[in-house]
Amino acid sequence: MSVTSIYERLADMNKAYLWHPFTQMKEYNNSDPLIIERGEGVMLYDIQGRAYYDGFSSVWLNVHGHNVPELNLAITDQLGRVAHSTLLGMANVPAIELAEKLVQITPEGLTKVFYSDSGATGVEIALKMAFQYWYNRGRRGKKTFITMNQAYHGDTIGAVSVGAIPLYHATFSPMLFSSHVIPYPYAYRQDGGAKSASEATLAALRNLLEEQADQIAALIVEPIVQGASGIVVMPQGCLREIAALCRRHEVLLIADEVATGFGRTGAMFACDLEGVSPDLMVVGKGLTGGYLPVAATLATDEVYDAFYADYGEQKTFFHGHSFTGNPLGCAVALASLKLMEERRMVQGVSTQASLVAKKLETLADWKHVGEVRQQGLMIGIELVQDKASRKAYDWTDRMGVRTSLRARELGMLTRPLGNVVVFIPPLASTEAELAAMTDILAKAIWDVTEGGWGA
Ligand SMILES: *Cc1c(COP(=O)(O)O)cnc(C)c1O
Repeated sequence: MSVTSIYERLADMNKAYLWHPFTQMKEYNNSDPLIIERGEGVMLYDIQGRAYYDGFSSVWLNVHGHNVPELNLAITDQLGRVAHSTLLGMANVPAIELAEKLVQITPEGLTKVFYSDSGATGVEIALKMAFQYWYNRGRRGKKTFITMNQAYHGDTIGAVSVGAIPLYHATFSPMLFSSHVIPYPYAYRQDGGAKSASEATLAALRNLLEEQADQIAALIVEPIVQGASGIVVMPQGCLREIAALCRRHEVLLIADEVATGFGRTGAMFACDLEGVSPDLMVVGKGLTGGYLPVAATLATDEVYDAFYADYGEQKTFFHGHSFTGNPLGCAVALASLKLMEERRMVQGVSTQASLVAKKLETLADWKHVGEVRQQGLMIGIELVQDKASRKAYDWTDRMGVRTSLRARELGMLTRPLGNVVVFIPPLASTEAELAAMTDILAKAIWDVTEGGWGA
């Protein structure tokens, strides 16, 4: 069969059988689907042989690039032993070794690792642990959660209950438990900028805690960078203040590091940037280098000890998933962390980040670029209709989508968040690759905002 007919056959089957996430299928089915066949380094190749830079790390997961010999070997080695056995009543070698490693590299005080298989399940676990922590301690009034405006913590019902993006979450509101929502410090959209955004957040949190801390189990936050809301970077010092307020009012702090973890922000974890030690921390996405679905929820001794009792006291954490502690996933996570250390990748992020910042400097002057936001190798470029008034493009203009489509045509993959163009390259990207990717990014933005491409 010719390449064209293979493509057409797969495209038809894709249309016939697949339902894609976060996708209006009616629209998608009217487009020519991109069908990936393989990857190599920071490149992905479609089945027609076209090459694309993976400019969003396959939705923020990828660390070392694709088809990495060391990671492949870790999986095949483990596969020769056992693909999966359970953590219900027994352990396995990679799950134990990875747990030790995670405790070593995460913020001080986190000492216990509970595995799951996605960021959302990791968040569910953190929420349930926080709730039962207070329950086990006899403080049964503490049962609600605080989240932040425009927060995203995954798509299962508990995670959606602490989500605050109306487009994704409003439909399901009758299914959800209610949470307190405080403002997220979004400096660009706050008169008075970073300082007043930060103050608004902290004032709202302080008021809420002073009135209701005895009814609140935990606050959940995407530390330093709120991802899905549009790569929004917190003003300096805000996270540290949030953590201090929670501590003072006996409310647990859950750090959702699913997007920010493993070097992405320039530190191993975003919490490290401000010396914050949460009570519970969720990691996923980059944990396995972006290879396999493993997530983990880490807890302090204090949390763990509230569950640690004679069986008859009924303090057990009754939660688990079939693939908890999957050996293949844990093995590749260990190999990924080893490579990160050997190649000093976290230390390298600041150099890479400066290069990207320099390349994107000129964009800040462009008429339709409202703000270029960056923390390490997480970059979001907010496009606006009017720079002076910060007036947003109407969603029907589809500026983010059009920019991504143009970037794809120019040889780079990414996915927008509304009017925010996202650039989250694999940590392993070389300087030349970063330069090539930022060139495509800039050209795509220019062609759409100034050239009317795709209008
Ligand atoms: C992606 C993400 C999640 C959800 O992770 P999944 O693996 O997609 O379930 C949770 N929190 C944050 C901050 C994320 O970016």
